[in-house]
Amino acid sequence: MDAEKRITFLLEDKKLDVQLNTIAAKVYHGERISESEGILLYEKGELGYLGVLANFIREKRHGNITYFNRNFHIEPTNLCVYDCKFCSYSRMIKHREDGWEATMEQMLNQVKSYDNEPVTEVHIVGGVLPQYNMSFYMDLFTAIKKHRPSLHVKALTPVEYHYIFKKAKVDYATGMAMMKDAGLDSMPGGGAEIFHPEIREQIAKDKCNADQWLQIHEAWHNLGMYSNATMLYGHIEQYRHRIDHLERLRQLQDKTGGFQTFIPLKFRNKDNQMSHVPEVSVIEDLRNYAVSRIYLDNFPHIKAYWAMISRETAQLALSFGVDDIDGTLDDTTKIYSMAGAEEQRPAMSTRELVELIKNVGRHPVERDTLYRVITDYKDAIFDEEGGAKQAAYYQLPVLDNK
Ligand code: SF4
Repeated sequence: MDAEKRITFLLEDKKLDVQLNTIAAKVYHGERISESEGILLYEKGELGYLGVLANFIREKRHGNITYFNRNFHIEPTNLCVYDCKFCSYSRMIKHREDGWEATMEQMLNQVKSYDNEPVTEVHIVGGVLPQYNMSFYMDLFTAIKKHRPSLHVKALTPVEYHYIFKKAKVDYATGMAMMKDAGLDSMPGGGAEIFHPEIREQIAKDKCNADQWLQIHEAWHNLGMYSNATMLYGHIEQYRHRIDHLERLRQLQDKTGGFQTFIPLKFRNKDNQMSHVPEVSVIEDLRNYAVSRIYLDNFPHIKAYWAMISRETAQLALSFGVDDIDGTLDDTTKIYSMAGAEEQRPAMSTRELVELIKNVGRHPVERDTLYRVITDYKDAIFDEEGGAKQAAYYQLPVLDNK
């Protein structure tokens, strides 16, 4: 049964709750749902119901296409002046001996190590330390672009920008314009956590607040540039806090149109100050992807980080509103593994990613950071070395009836 038939079937189900039926009808007609309807989805929407709605939207927008990219991460440091309670990554300054602090040269060498690789993006994010200031990052971006102009630099979040701009005494608009001039191409979605102060105050009270996070993205979008957004879910927040978060993002997106992708991030409880908080189930992960897809009607893409939620859950998520499963990563990030993710050395070859997507009946497309198609793998086959070729067709032997 296709996505349209499933939602029609749902709409005709006389046993369906009246309010859920109203929401299904809105989704079917492409209408926006309200905040109270969003909370109702979280409270009452069963997995199957949410999947039908989210998959209808996903297939209307993207059909079976599932995006991924070829990327690597640079994490300048895992030391941080902040003390977010959920963070398994930061070693804080008092535990400096457990941390790393990469130099400019080390980071450039990391970029150079990919010189013969077909990667399209470097994703730079890490802890916050005073020596990584505005001029350091501007020099880094400039040096990367000088070495490899086509490499897309997706770097830092409002957490770092707020800190370095404050130290340099520049306002957000000026600061982001300077970053753009230095070579920044786009901004990842991190640091958003949960915007609502009732929760943010408890889990991440020192770093930039919700308004500052949103203002920095707005300043970036006003330059005609793109960014992503995240939400850290599944800890002490309630459903109303999640909807408040999504609503603030939806409002900014109405204003600027600069967000490309929303990425729900699952709270993991290994080695952090919230280890006593249990993790939510895979069912809740899938429900959350689905509600995000339904609520954020003005976001083009919903992404699942396969390295964070496991390959199998990423495959399932493709039926719950997700159309992007991130990149090859090449074992260059420790953010997920240190938080207790299933993938302890996250790396997948292009072939593995393509097969992962094809195995659940979707259509793999390698994209660049701005979702321009690099390679369509729908009919590609791989040779022994793992290189992709165009699909080959062989004439089948036929009986000679003469
Ligand atoms: S989440 Fe980010 S800002 Fe917070 S302590 Fe960890 S590295 Fe620092």
